[in-house]
Amino acid sequence: MICIPITAGTKKEALHAIERSCRLADFIELRMDLINGGRLEEFISAARGDSDSIKIIVTCRKKEEAAPAGGTVLAKSTARNTEEKIALLKEAIVLGADFVDIELAEGQAAIKELQAFCAKHGGKTKIIISYHNLKETPALTELKQIFHQCAKFKPSIVKMVTTAKTIEDNLITLNLISYAQKRSQEIISLCMGDKGGISRIAAPLMGSYLSFAAVERGGHSAPGQFTVGEMKRINELLRSSRTVPEAPVLSAQRPQPQNYILLGNPVGQSLSPLMHNAALKKMGIEGTYSAFCVQDLRGAIQGMRAMNICGASVTIPFKVAIMEYLDDVDDDALKIGAVNTIINHHGRLTGHNTDWLGLTVTIREAMPIKNKTFVIVGAGGTARAAVYGIIKEGGLPVVVNRTPEKGKVLADEFNCPFYSFSEIGNIKADCLINTTPVGMYPKDKSPVKAGVLEAYKYVMDVIYNPLKTKLLKDAQKRGCGIISGLDMFVNQGSEQLRLWTGVEPPRALMKKTILERLTQVE
Ligand code: NAP
Repeated sequence: MICIPITAGTKKEALHAIERSCRLADFIELRMDLINGGRLEEFISAARGDSDSIKIIVTCRKKEEAAPAGGTVLAKSTARNTEEKIALLKEAIVLGADFVDIELAEGQAAIKELQAFCAKHGGKTKIIISYHNLKETPALTELKQIFHQCAKFKPSIVKMVTTAKTIEDNLITLNLISYAQKRSQEIISLCMGDKGGISRIAAPLMGSYLSFAAVERGGHSAPGQFTVGEMKRINELLRSSRTVPEAPVLSAQRPQPQNYILLGNPVGQSLSPLMHNAALKKMGIEGTYSAFCVQDLRGAIQGMRAMNICGASVTIPFKVAIMEYLDDVDDDALKIGAVNTIINHHGRLTGHNTDWLGLTVTIREAMPIKNKTFVIVGAGGTARAAVYGIIKEGGLPVVVNRTPEKGKVLADEFNCPFYSFSEIGNIKADCLINTTPVGMYPKDKSPVKAGVLEAYKYVMDVIYNPLKTKLLKDAQKRGCGIISGLDMFVNQGSEQLRLWTGVEPPRALMKKTILERLTQVE
């Protein structure tokens, strides 16, 4: 569906533009921040007189979110404060506008006031909550967070418009469309600017509620907008080209090798290549898994796309930073805030997190998680995966961390208690999990005093080198059940292989391979 924004400077020009637009488009958007003179009532009744079917959106864009429009300057009305603007949008509701658009930046109180007013007047006018970024396209994870801030008000439509600095920015806004659809939320998502044309064309085909177009060149309300004629011609061309049959696959074509990589820095000590290569061989998959010590993350991701690498593991220090380079991040990884696995599906990179699954599968093999209390020592990436996984399985995490500020942020985010190290002896819990690197080879150290462990039935260490850390030795001496980081390592790795190949990986062989290597070292 095509919407023409009415951006004419004067009342006379606006009425003329409304008349022309009602013949050409499905929607008109009355940009009250750009029209000088005339009353909303006159514009709405003119549009209704011109067309029985036209849908009307009323908008009074904030100055900070109004892109420079072709040939028009911001009207005096942009001086309206939030109160005056809400009054105008309420008037639009009373006059029977089909949609009113309010920016997320106007704040919760203004949005709720408008929603309540709309409900009181029969709820016929629908609400669009919008976000515009005139400078850039933020990373996909940030945009998803903004999307959720809009969606939590349950509007009819969320509108997300950013500025494309690169062609790739189009992919980010287009990604939001399927993300919103999965959550049954109508969305308008596109990029402005000279580099944003791809999204303006692709968005409606991918399910964006509508796209914007100008009546003629120079009449656009935002940079990069096509004219209605151009939009219609492009759509006709795309529709007709859809009937072209796909090229046949040559039966003699050999399957491509499936190659995988590890992205981290450092990676020299990693046992992932050993484990994954043994598994790929056993699974009969032609391909290799190689470790890359990465200096330039963006370059590494470009290389991954160019070389058609099927998947990647991500390790320290890139588990958070990687997210902005991906086309999509699944819900678990988004909530954890870290990605340790990438799948490359025909050039589209999606991020996942298998650490939480590796950890919970390992704990479940030793003890139940539901209704049990777990002290998580640490507040880094692995601690986040642990807290997330334990909550997901019905357990109760308690965070203990060296830096209280970091620990409290994690605890607050997941709504669980935080204790400092000095208070650890006061906590009553079933299992203690170390997620810090304290105790890693070659240092024989424990993150907690041995006496503290007497309070626990189980103690887990995510470290797997050495196999039995000082923490686990101390725990065993005090009669606790111990859970090793090796099983977590194998389980998270086997989940990666399952995601990449869709085939059940040889877990026993993977564990044996690592065990042999680690016992050689010991
Ligand atoms: P991270 O994000 O850097 O977090 C490390 C955490 O440990 C931080 O909260 C830090 O506390 C704390 N810490 C560091 N040194 C400490 C010390 N000397 N005393 C007390 N606390 C200390 O690291 P990560 O990605 O979570 O990785 C942590 C460990 O998990 C690594 O050893 C990694 O190899 C292991 N791991 C194992 C598996 C597996 O499959 N077995 C999977 C993932 C990770 P502050 O907040 O105070 O800085």
